[in-house]
Amino acid sequence: MLELKNVQTFYGNIQALKGISLQIAEGEIVTLIGANGAGKTTTLMSVCGIVPPRAGEIYFEGQPIHHMPANKIVSLGICQVPEGRRIFPYLTVLENLDMGAFLRNDKAEIKRDLDYVFSLFPILAERRNQAGGTLSGGEQQMLAISRALMARPRLLLLDEPSLGLAPLVVKQIFEIIRKVNSENKTTIFLVEQNANLALKVAHRGYVMENGKITMTDTAANLMANEEVRKAYLGI
Ligand code: ATP
Repeated sequence: MLELKNVQTFYGNIQALKGISLQIAEGEIVTLIGANGAGKTTTLMSVCGIVPPRAGEIYFEGQPIHHMPANKIVSLGICQVPEGRRIFPYLTVLENLDMGAFLRNDKAEIKRDLDYVFSLFPILAERRNQAGGTLSGGEQQMLAISRALMARPRLLLLDEPSLGLAPLVVKQIFEIIRKVNSENKTTIFLVEQNANLALKVAHRGYVMENGKITMTDTAANLMANEEVRKAYLGI
């Protein structure tokens, strides 16, 4: 479904991605783990066209997207939940969710999806008329994921969904990630610093260091790998 070939991305003179290659098949949850500053967020930004690569190629379902503007990439079915949530703080929960469905005009299906995200996160239904900015951190993350789901993405990019959240909320969010993948066949590319959590939910993983992919394997094998355990799982 998604393929990156030797992707190189820069911020001015700083090279953040030094030739990244990876693949994600339809229906998978694939995680990208690595330390601070390894280039995980930049990888997602390159896929969704916000920080386009300077060299290399990115294909979505066989179609080159590395020169495509971000809005066109979204319309193909790739949707990102950015780090730090970035919901619209002055819009209500319902208005935030409406924004997620901005590109759609299938009203009945939108209503169905709204009921679906409310079933995933009942607290959002309770808070539907509350301003997004007044929600708790965990609720904002739920809203950010739900807003992305309202676009009915084929590929969902999640950037650090666990960041700054209480363990119980994190557990709930990761259960929903698994559910969305298995019930809707939504393909998920998950960037996480919490490697333990990410490898538990993912089918496969890539390890990134200093702008390069250094390892890839099934999530189970990565969890059992001595180097990964020492460097990323704190074992
Ligand atoms: P974290 O887990 O801390 O979010 P990351 O693995 O997602 O880290 P990136 O945010 O992709 O890492 O950053 C990769 C490199 O690019 C870092 O060295 C960072 O300082 C640099 N970088 C990121 N954004 C910018 C920017 N807007 N301008 C200049 N350099 C940047």
